Amino acid sequence: MIKKALKTWLLWELVLGLALTGRYMFQKKITVEYPEEKTPLSPRFRGLHALRRYESGEERCIACKLCEVICPAVAILIESAERDDGSRRTTRYDIDFSKCIYCGLCQEACPVDAIVETQEFEYATETRDGLYYTKDMLLAVGDRNEKQIAANLAADARYS
Ligand code: SF4
Ligand code: SF4
Repeated sequence: MIKKALKTWLLWELVLGLALTGRYMFQKKITVEYPEEKTPLSPRFRGLHALRRYESGEERCIACKLCEVICPAVAILIESAERDDGSRRTTRYDIDFSKCIYCGLCQEACPVDAIVETQEFEYATETRDGLYYTKDMLLAVGDRNEKQIAANLAADARYS
C-alpha cells in the first residue's frame, strides 16, 4: 500500500515516460520529413498499376483476361476484339482502385508482363471517380515508369 501510494505521489509513471523520452532524444532519428524526404522502396512495392508496351510502342497485353479472372476484388474490367491482322487486343481495360487490394495476383498471372505494379503511391483523390483508371490512363502510367519497371523486374528476376 505504501509503495503504491509513494508511486502515485511521486508521479512515477510520468518519470518513467520522461526517462524513455530522454533515452531516445540523443539517438539517431528514423523519422523523415515527408513529402520532401522519402524512404527507400522495395522493387516489389505494390503501388499504382501500369500497362506496359514493347519498345516498338505496341502494347504488351494480349487480352487473355487471366488478370481479370484471378483478381479477387473484381477490380479489373476487360473487353477485347480481334484486329485486322488477326491479333487480339483489349478495347477496354479498366481498374477500379477503390476495390483493388494490391495483392499482386494480376501481375503474377500475366504471361507477358503487361500489367505490373509500380512504385507510384501518391495518387490519393477526393472522389471515388478519381480512382477509376481506364486503359489510356494505365498505359500513361506505364510510359512514364517504364525505366523503373524494367529495372525492378530485372532485379527481381533471380527470385522468380
Ligand atoms: S492487385 Fe489484386 S486486387 Fe488489385 S487489380 Fe491486381 S489482382 Fe485485383
Ligand atoms: S494484362 Fe496480361 S493477364 Fe491481363 S489480359 Fe493482358 S495479357 Fe492477359
